[in-house]
Amino acid sequence: MELKPLVDLHTHTIASGHAYSTLKENIEAAKAMGLTVLGTSEHAKLMPGTAPLIYFTNFKVIPKVVDGVYLINGIEANIFNEKGEIDVDESILPKMDYIIASLHSPCFKDLGMAANTKAVIGAVENPNVTVIGHPDDDRYPIDHDQLAAAAAEHHTALELNNGSLNPLSTRKGARKNIVTLLEACRKYKTMILMGTDSHICYEIGHFEDSMEMLREVDFPEELVINFDLNRLPYVLRTRHALEVAAMSRGEKSGE
Ligand SMILES: [Zn+2]
Ligand SMILES: [Zn+2]
Repeated sequence: MELKPLVDLHTHTIASGHAYSTLKENIEAAKAMGLTVLGTSEHAKLMPGTAPLIYFTNFKVIPKVVDGVYLINGIEANIFNEKGEIDVDESILPKMDYIIASLHSPCFKDLGMAANTKAVIGAVENPNVTVIGHPDDDRYPIDHDQLAAAAAEHHTALELNNGSLNPLSTRKGARKNIVTLLEACRKYKTMILMGTDSHICYEIGHFEDSMEMLREVDFPEELVINFDLNRLPYVLRTRHALEVAAMSRGEKSGE
């Protein structure tokens, strides 16, 4: 059977300030790409130019399903210190369907491998964080073995970021880092979430480079969340999201 990604949870809209499509355009692209679930994850407040806090308080206007595409709404938080703290205000935490925590150059300076790893593991241990975004960047060396072990223990997924594999990406060394990341995830049975990190609708659902990496290392498909809607709750943290996920599997919403 050919494996097909059904879910893309790492996407941005114009609300992020450096992305170029609307939610409607992203939904249309998701539909065209055959995705079942689309998640939107705008950057949190320390990213220059991103959406204001109030943006994250009104997700209730977004339908649960549009034209067969089920919609959930999270945030891409910035890890901003060695403790792994993230920039998501308490007031919006309950509304975030999922939280991706990432290292970004405007918010985090390289502290060396030991301290970078400590920071990312600090985020892994935060029960609000459900995914670690693009841990694949030579600008922030991370011990993948320690990270994958901690992520498996704390039920946090690690991202296989398709954007990192784009030659235009600002992240460095993604290909070799993803190989070591996947090997560590295989060793500890750590769950992987593929994300496109789309900053324009034409990237939504395009996982070709990630799929090639999975094939290259013969990665166990059962550790990839995107291939099975039953695995989606692993990265979800709200009742709303769990209801949408159940609907996407053709089950009653439970309301
Ligand atoms: Zn961005
Ligand atoms: Zn990011």
